[in-house]
Amino acid sequence: MQNAEKEIKRDIKSMLPEEIGEYLVSIGEKKFRAGQIFKWLTMGVGSFDEMSNISKALRERLDSEFYIVPPKVIRKQQSAIDGTIKYLWQLRDGNAVESVLMKYEHGNTACVSSQVGCRQGCIFCASTGSGLVRNLTASEILDQVRYTELDSGEKISNIVLMGIGEPLENFDNVMRFLQLVNHKDGMNIGMRHISLSTCGLTERIDKLSEYDLQLTLSISLHAPDDETRSKLMPINKKHNVAQLMSACRAYYEKTGRRISFEYALIDGVNDSPEQAKLLAKLMKPIGGHVNIIPLNNIEGSPLKPGDAKAFMNRLCDMGVNATVRRRLGSDIDAACGQLRRKTAKENGN
Ligand code: SAH
Repeated sequence: MQNAEKEIKRDIKSMLPEEIGEYLVSIGEKKFRAGQIFKWLTMGVGSFDEMSNISKALRERLDSEFYIVPPKVIRKQQSAIDGTIKYLWQLRDGNAVESVLMKYEHGNTACVSSQVGCRQGCIFCASTGSGLVRNLTASEILDQVRYTELDSGEKISNIVLMGIGEPLENFDNVMRFLQLVNHKDGMNIGMRHISLSTCGLTERIDKLSEYDLQLTLSISLHAPDDETRSKLMPINKKHNVAQLMSACRAYYEKTGRRISFEYALIDGVNDSPEQAKLLAKLMKPIGGHVNIIPLNNIEGSPLKPGDAKAFMNRLCDMGVNATVRRRLGSDIDAACGQLRRKTAKENGN
């Protein structure tokens, strides 16, 4: 925020074209201009002045009531191995979040953050170290996709909400982000090209099912038994595995969409044959897909990666649909939260 006046300005980039239209009508302007404005915003203009088909009077009026502050690149790292690009963005209030651009055969994927920090406290995760600072606005989530595309010159076709933060905790802003990014006059990214990952907020999974979206829901399961899962993920003490699986089952029945389960394999913690068996049992009734993630080492942590291939084979032998996630950007701290954490450390906080 540059000055106090900005505080009262509204966030136009979080508004849908229909809402911009209503505003325009309320000030006696033509509704159709909303489409023009929304297009400019989608293109990533840095100010209202750049909207050359909008009258000067209206541009000034908009500028007095709304802000457009593009995020600034604080750090950018590109992997020499696979071209993955990691961005650390500075937001309007000085906070920082990360996003990652991953290049796959099926298209470019942006991994975006939904909160500044995280309060879920999963012991293996770099995003959660210093707690939750605040939720991101819808436009701050959208800007990560938009400016990753603009900066890299790479068209983004897929989005994963797998960066910093718990998206279902920031429910309303995330839903609004989905509407914006999916809008036919906006970035127009289809719901089937979007994955949303959650640590398992069961009531919010129920709520999400009401929207009946075609996105892919990913659940960070990481252990099939309460004893292990509670040690890894504090959320499990609130909603245990049985409750989580029952929410997943209801979600699957309501939406007809298969759920993906993330499983960060940790040596000697969640990789035993018994745990594979238990996991297979959980997956059976809902045809869940298990995505095994080789654990990313975090500095100072005793946890070590397990043998992902062996665990996958065990699951496949029991008829479970399981894959090992390809590791991208391993040379550039591309796992979520690592860059923000490193930068904060280097800056001494
Ligand atoms: N809060 C949401 C979104 C984060 S998605 C969630 O928990 O799902 C990021 C994924 O990477 C999650 O599955 C998370 O558990 C996983 N993850 C975090 N740290 C990891 C690490 N060190 N190694 C492997 N996976 C990790």
